[in-house]
Amino acid sequence: MDIGKYEIGYKSDFKLSDIKPNQTGQFDSKEDAEKQLVKNVERMAELQSILYAQDKYSLLIIFQAMDTAGKDGTIKHVMSGLNPQSTHVHSFKQPSAEELDHDYLWRASKNLPERGMIGIFNRSYYEDVLVVRVHDLLKSQQIPEEFITDNIWKERYRQIRDFEQYLNENGTITIKFFLHISKDEQKKRLLERIDDKTKNWKFSAADIKERQYWEDYLRNYQETICETSTKQAPWYVIPADKKWFARLLVSEVIIKSMESLNIAYPAISKEQKQVLKDCKQKLLKEK
Ligand code: AMP
Ligand code: MG
Repeated sequence: MDIGKYEIGYKSDFKLSDIKPNQTGQFDSKEDAEKQLVKNVERMAELQSILYAQDKYSLLIIFQAMDTAGKDGTIKHVMSGLNPQSTHVHSFKQPSAEELDHDYLWRASKNLPERGMIGIFNRSYYEDVLVVRVHDLLKSQQIPEEFITDNIWKERYRQIRDFEQYLNENGTITIKFFLHISKDEQKKRLLERIDDKTKNWKFSAADIKERQYWEDYLRNYQETICETSTKQAPWYVIPADKKWFARLLVSEVIIKSMESLNIAYPAISKEQKQVLKDCKQKLLKEK
């Protein structure tokens, strides 16, 4: 699949409206996409096993989206074949008192994947240029006033770019997904959460309130994506009205990114090969 179409360039003139949330690439059937996803899940497991054995790189996968866009479902389905021992999912909620007592990247740093591991952020430090900006939450945090200026968002974009570059130069590869749904599809999904008893638990009246800020969020997402999409840590805008397409595309991007690392199982030296041979003989000689 041509994933380049969904990768956004740094400071490009990309408009979110250029990517239609209901598109499904060259796939017209859910069945074909699901078959491909099963294969992709297997391939991801193979690559993960090499990543873990090599123990040098780590992979950080960030999911951002409007409510109901399918972050949880995508994480569940796309990551279903991964080894839980080398995968770590962290969800970012409203910051706690302890978290607010630190700079905004602190809680992200604490939850970064170790070498060899895959870390998944369900929301992330990007909330600090999104929800915090839309709802003007800076003043309720403990940042010294002199730093709260009109430049703060540009400064945060730079801080985030620097942070991700720092991670990259130390072996952590970052991939960022924006699951892009339409406002109509969100309405449909919210109604389902109200009408379907098994989905009632997912419904939050706060989501209806957030919906009123739709245009504000999209404006900020667009700016954020353009300002923080870099070669080392690209953003992918994933059409997400069709869940099956979103999941497939996410898995394709993850595979391509891991393959581009050229990771391999650690090479074994002559001496180690001899040790393996000797041990095998010993085992085979056992009565
Ligand atoms: P959910 O993902 O539905 O569990 O909701 C988590 C909530 O936490 C969302 O409404 C986010 O906007 C909110 N949240 C996450 N990070 C922050 C942050 N840094 N400041 C304020 N709210 C946040
Ligand atoms: Mg929610």
